[in-house]
Amino acid sequence: MKKHNFSAGPSILAKEVMENTAKAVVDLNGTGLSVMEISHRGKDFMAIMDETVALFKELLEIPEGYHVLFLGGGASLQFSMVPYNLLGKKAAYLETGSWAKKAAKEAKFFGETVIVASSADKNYNYIPKNFTIPEDADYFHITTNNTIYGTEIKEDMNSPVPLVADMSSDIFSRPVDISKYGIIYGGAQKNLGPAGVTFVIIREDILGKAGRPIPTMLDYKTHIDQGSMFNTPPCLPIYTSMETLRWLKKMGGVRKMQEINQHKAQLMYSEIERNSLFVGTAEKDSRSIMNVCFVMNEKYKDLEAEFLSFATSKGMVGIKGHRSVGGFRASIYNAMAVESVQALIDVMQEFEKEHK
Ligand SMILES: *Cc1c(COP(=O)(O)O)cnc(C)c1O
Repeated sequence: MKKHNFSAGPSILAKEVMENTAKAVVDLNGTGLSVMEISHRGKDFMAIMDETVALFKELLEIPEGYHVLFLGGGASLQFSMVPYNLLGKKAAYLETGSWAKKAAKEAKFFGETVIVASSADKNYNYIPKNFTIPEDADYFHITTNNTIYGTEIKEDMNSPVPLVADMSSDIFSRPVDISKYGIIYGGAQKNLGPAGVTFVIIREDILGKAGRPIPTMLDYKTHIDQGSMFNTPPCLPIYTSMETLRWLKKMGGVRKMQEINQHKAQLMYSEIERNSLFVGTAEKDSRSIMNVCFVMNEKYKDLEAEFLSFATSKGMVGIKGHRSVGGFRASIYNAMAVESVQALIDVMQEFEKEHK
């Protein structure tokens, strides 16, 4: 039976990306060596690193003055690296979910941390509006896609201070105006590659202002100066990320991907609205195009476990919602085909026919 992988992360990758990675693990481009056993400073791996950086710059149209880094430690280490490098006096955060909250918690180790707005009052089911970004903050931190709650900031906002964004779960899902950001970071394992590599897009001129000594490995300058080669980078996850970006380019780039993603999300949300058994959790204008969260309608609450096992028996994988929201979550990242979204919708309709 075909499996349809709706996992939130680590998550689906394009089939050819996995096949090409498998080949490179055994024999990289006919070198007779695995991508896992070659020097990261040798010409074969340097070519992989250079192409990955070049594809980032090309596909996201990254302007001059920015660097693309590949680091370890996950998005979670960026929660600390950002304030370590940028927070002199005061930082501002938008609290749109538990990842955003975790990011703000780390900033508090380094200085005053202001939460400009929070949607915690409604279990983070919306993106707050009409907040003011303090002009004396060293930076403003947002989480563009709230993986757990299925809400998303879909536009690039204006900020009077450097804008820092955790884009772990929506990078490459749409065009981004990079020039509005000081830093964009994320773990690869949602929309780019396997777990183990973290990307950081950084504008160099925002650095050097925090006024504290920074340990070498936690200093962005180290990784900028050394081209992500200060220590051994996560070679294999970088290789797979490169394959994903080659695939993305072939698919038509981020504009085309946004079109497809909007279509997939539209299909899912329309079905949730139409189907009497289910109800969406995120407010309409805050809905994510990457993670679609829904629960059983009050009247059918008892059917939750049954729907989950029914869907599982039909090949649906990873649709159980995060414990803090409950119900279901369909993560429909770039690599998820429209056919798989349709397969889930068919399952929802079949279940409705049996139980309505
Ligand atoms: C998954 C996720 C993280 C955590 O990433 P790690 O690489 O596991 O540290 C952080 N932020 C967002 C928005 C995520 O989706």
